[in-house]
Amino acid sequence: MNHKTKKNTLIIVFITILIFSINFKTLSKNQIETKMIFQENFKREQTILLEKGYTVFEINQIYEYMSKKNIDKILENEYVDLKEFFGITNFDFEKIDSYKAYQSIENIPMKDAVTKVNLKLDVPFYSETIEITNPDSLLVLVNKVYVLNENYKPENLLPIPSFPNLQLRKEAIEDFEKLLAQAKLDNIFLIPYSTYRSFSYQKQVYEKYLEKDPKELVDTYSARPGHSEHQTGLAIDIRSKDHWYNLTKSDYEWMKQNAYKYGFIIRYSKNNSNFTGYKEEPWHIRYVGIEHAKKITDLKLTFDEYYDLYINIH
Ligand SMILES: [Zn+2]
Repeated sequence: MNHKTKKNTLIIVFITILIFSINFKTLSKNQIETKMIFQENFKREQTILLEKGYTVFEINQIYEYMSKKNIDKILENEYVDLKEFFGITNFDFEKIDSYKAYQSIENIPMKDAVTKVNLKLDVPFYSETIEITNPDSLLVLVNKVYVLNENYKPENLLPIPSFPNLQLRKEAIEDFEKLLAQAKLDNIFLIPYSTYRSFSYQKQVYEKYLEKDPKELVDTYSARPGHSEHQTGLAIDIRSKDHWYNLTKSDYEWMKQNAYKYGFIIRYSKNNSNFTGYKEEPWHIRYVGIEHAKKITDLKLTFDEYYDLYINIH
């Protein structure tokens, strides 16, 4: 490096530092201004809430637990006793009357009433359906309310390498093969027997069951077309080696302990019928990705509840 280059380099370094410090100063000034505006708004809102009759305790709880959208609604309306909703993160101020009415009829915890009303699970299954707008999401909720369009077919279905006559969405395949491999190492031999099913195939399946059982019964074990997770290419029915459609007790136990490690959840477990409307299905697993599968399993939530608490924006 000669003398001139050295000098130039020093100048460049000096200018860079100068630019950074100017930016830094501007940023801090903006930050301070934003903070001041925020504090002033906050003070103004607190005064409004006090005037409406909220206590200091209630105001603290409102800011601790309520979303911005809810706080705006609370500010617009007269005083409402919100005590039973503090801590319920999926609470939506606009549905407060429905929550209260449903909770008093069903006599269930308020948090469950909130989730069920949010997901329209407070009315008889299939009586109000909503067409799914995010069918390609790995976290899509398909149930007796949320329905897939009859033409929906995932674009990236691929055969499972070790069971090439069955198709899954590309994202689920590698983790599913890992699950099978680990099971084998643990001396458990699992055989998938139904994965992706089209709308028309599901229609045939459901109608076939209707020939032998009444509708109310069929609805507890088979999904109506458009309401089956199998149409997403993310659900798998899996059986033990010596069983024709189910898992043995010990294989089910293994699945409960291990499925989440590979991104799968037990979708219809023993205690979640009131959310799902299905009886327990040990054989049906659903891919949601490892991060979410772990959270859902740790929190012991039905996917429907998890969806409303963590995925749906309120
Ligand atoms: Zn299934």
